[in-house]
Amino acid sequence: MNNNIRVRFAPSPTGHLHIGGLRTALFNYLFAKKNNGKLILRIDDTDITRSKKEYEDLIISDIKWFDIKYDEFYRQSERKDIYEKYLKILEEKGYVYECFCTEEELLRSKELSINLKKPYIYNGRCLHLNGAEKENLRKKLADAGLVPSIRLNMLKLGCEQVEFEDMVHGKVVFNVKLLGDFVLKTSDNRFTYNFASIVDDIDLGITHIIRGEDHISNTPRQILLCRALGTGCPMFAHISLLYGKDGKLMSKRDFNANLEHYKKEGYLPQAVLNYLAITGNTFIVNDERFSDEIFTSFDEMAHYFDIKRTKSSGAIFSEEKLKFVNEKWLQQLNTDDLIYAIKEKFILTDYINVSDINSINISSSINNTDIESAEIFDVIDYAEKEYGKERLRCIIDFLKNEYKTVKEIILELDNVFLYKGKYNYFDKDITELLFENLKETTGNKPEASGFNEILIKNAIQKISKENKKNIKDIYENLRMALTGKTNGPSILKIAVLLGKERVISKLTI
Ligand code: GLU
Repeated sequence: MNNNIRVRFAPSPTGHLHIGGLRTALFNYLFAKKNNGKLILRIDDTDITRSKKEYEDLIISDIKWFDIKYDEFYRQSERKDIYEKYLKILEEKGYVYECFCTEEELLRSKELSINLKKPYIYNGRCLHLNGAEKENLRKKLADAGLVPSIRLNMLKLGCEQVEFEDMVHGKVVFNVKLLGDFVLKTSDNRFTYNFASIVDDIDLGITHIIRGEDHISNTPRQILLCRALGTGCPMFAHISLLYGKDGKLMSKRDFNANLEHYKKEGYLPQAVLNYLAITGNTFIVNDERFSDEIFTSFDEMAHYFDIKRTKSSGAIFSEEKLKFVNEKWLQQLNTDDLIYAIKEKFILTDYINVSDINSINISSSINNTDIESAEIFDVIDYAEKEYGKERLRCIIDFLKNEYKTVKEIILELDNVFLYKGKYNYFDKDITELLFENLKETTGNKPEASGFNEILIKNAIQKISKENKKNIKDIYENLRMALTGKTNGPSILKIAVLLGKERVISKLTI
């Protein structure tokens, strides 16, 4: 294994990290893990007008929420000296020139190209200015508080085309003529993305650049910069963007592009990543497709991950498939780990409206002081106090096999196990009979020796026989009284987990 592999994830802090960005971060993480390499997190904050510290904080907290671990951290805004150093190398080699064009002039050329239906290519006007002309233009720019921008001189580089082997797309060829002399440093003294990015990649020893395919058109520019600087070039892998089921590219505006959506809906971070890894990807084990595509750990996922098997065609995002993966993850996760994840990762007040005084569920069973501090109300702590650690574990163990998301589990925990009020029943007679018969039984523990399934089943059969009541009706009544619903998971199991005391109290008319 090559332990010099270095990859980077380089988000711009101009907004939230979205689901496509998370997929890029994951692919870098898996690639580093598989090759025993390092993952670098680089914040691309050269655009000072759009970059915000709060977005940087949110991106980092999202990466942590998903347990993606990085080894090194850099901020482009703190690396200006390094960019200057590399720019000097290009200046010394004569690969760059000053450009005095104003924004208005450039805009006019762009508009002209649009009108002529031609791609915009910088006309190279400033390449041929003489000393006096330059001085004159320099003064004009200085009056406006600007300096000349710096462009790469393609003519001097003298290549006609750029060709590279993309790990996902195979051979890619670009015509250099269409690129024009692009800007490395702007007239307001900012380094452009293409320059800062590849300088960082060179300077930080990045070996593989794995990023969204929306950046593929930047790659020839960055390769040309490597050539001009006389350095080697990293390998590139441009991964497909995510598409919705309607075939449209997922955009930041889509409700499920924002990672908050996944936290709020109660998807486990591991499940989201597992799903992102398999969508638009093929996992091969011993030359056979990895069958159920549910992994048990990052290590396992990384072991089977092969960037070359990433499909170059669009990856289709399906929330139903994600839900399926989440369901499997809930089932396979150790219950203690799940309880820990529920407590640490999710804001449970998103699911239960404890601040709503009219809410008859959990809010009815906590006092007003608790309601005021609703944001810090911890439903798991509360449930643990109600049931004890062991019994709560049994309840979560039961619920995790019945529901597909943490949200569904918490809603059910609230609705059935924490609700202290009473639900309406269908039939008064049957409810009274259940009350009488179950009251007679002994034990209040979930174990077989106490208030168990057989005991409740026998009581129901006895009621049916002695009172000529339909078994189905008795079960339906019991379910309605305990859960307020007409269907759901095994009502016998629910009754046992609730315990005799709570069952009896819910059957009291
Ligand atoms: N900051 C760029 C972005 O967020 C990074 C592109 C790259 O990976 O080179 O799209």
